Amino acid sequence: VSNARLGVTATFGCPGCRWSGAADPVCWRCPRCGEPIEFVDGGAAPRRLVPTPSERSGVWRYADWLGVEDPISLGEAQSPLITWPAPGGQEVLVKNESVLPTGSFKDRGAAVLVSWLRAQGAARVVVDSSGNAGAATAAYCARAGMGCEVFVPAYASAAKVAQAEAYGATVVRVTGTRADTARAAERRAAAADVPYASHQWHPAFLLGVETIAFELWEQCRRTLPDVIVMPLGSGSLVLGMARGLAALAHAGLLGAMPRLIGVQSDRCMPIACLLGAQAGRAGSDRSIAEGVQIADPPRKRQIVAALRAGGGTALAVGDDEIRAAQRRAAALGLLIEPTAAVGLAAMVREEVASASRAVVVVTGSGLKTLAGESRRTSGRLVA
Ligand SMILES: [Zn+2]
Repeated sequence: VSNARLGVTATFGCPGCRWSGAADPVCWRCPRCGEPIEFVDGGAAPRRLVPTPSERSGVWRYADWLGVEDPISLGEAQSPLITWPAPGGQEVLVKNESVLPTGSFKDRGAAVLVSWLRAQGAARVVVDSSGNAGAATAAYCARAGMGCEVFVPAYASAAKVAQAEAYGATVVRVTGTRADTARAAERRAAAADVPYASHQWHPAFLLGVETIAFELWEQCRRTLPDVIVMPLGSGSLVLGMARGLAALAHAGLLGAMPRLIGVQSDRCMPIACLLGAQAGRAGSDRSIAEGVQIADPPRKRQIVAALRAGGGTALAVGDDEIRAAQRRAAALGLLIEPTAAVGLAAMVREEVASASRAVVVVTGSGLKTLAGESRRTSGRLVA
């Protein structure tokens, strides 16, 4: 567990080769071995994980824990936890992250990462994204008065690209794979000497995502469910959840650790294959779940370890199953994008259906992709 506070005196460390150095806003990977870096706890300042009832809601409810003194806020709310009918007749709890300011869970990470970079003196950032992280980073940069350049794959949803542009970001479309987009952003950040605010690499982003675990813990009255199901692409949600739960356990606030289940697309399922949980090839093909289409996540070893630690696993679902889950959710009043529906699509799998109490995280609003999907259908035209 990274127990480091943020703040201007933070230190970076590499768990791989034991490098450490002063936290630098333009550093995003280990300068010695190239592996992902973490914040290393330098100070002994006390931290408060459990807020008082009157403290604000959302990600900044845990500002003291995060060590952020000057948060950039868009008035984040606690995302709702609602009971939801599963196809087998049982009930699950749905944690609806689509209500966050830009419509996805990425706001948790972007709020903390952009706040930290601003405190470090950054005036602009470069980021790469299939859509949601770019929109979230663009919004928080706009709120902070910072510049933002977003690199997206050419296949990214038009609405997500338009959203980042609406916040004032400069959008660069990159042909090729999602990995080609990441490399283009890395090169741009290095050439311009600007922070690369990557949700796949940066530890400040993961710190922000930890708050979803704290929120769940408060909403479940300190008794977490057996199983937590969530989309798995770059792993920022799985890792943030795992680290948040580990922090709660470390503080003596957690009984049994829930099993974490990451859900991928069967067209791109590197973690499910690494875990041996799914037969077939890892793949890197296009899926309607564009947000989980990450063929080689930088933190893949950490993701595998986090899932294995609590007896969890990774599953993969097909586009037809995703579409069906998305339609079923909308028919019950919950409009979510395909990527956000992968967890609901996995509810019929034995690993989830056998749980006595499961939480399924839905990560992004259906408004993000609605324009593209509505072209395939049409309403009745009345003269
Ligand atoms: Zn290293």
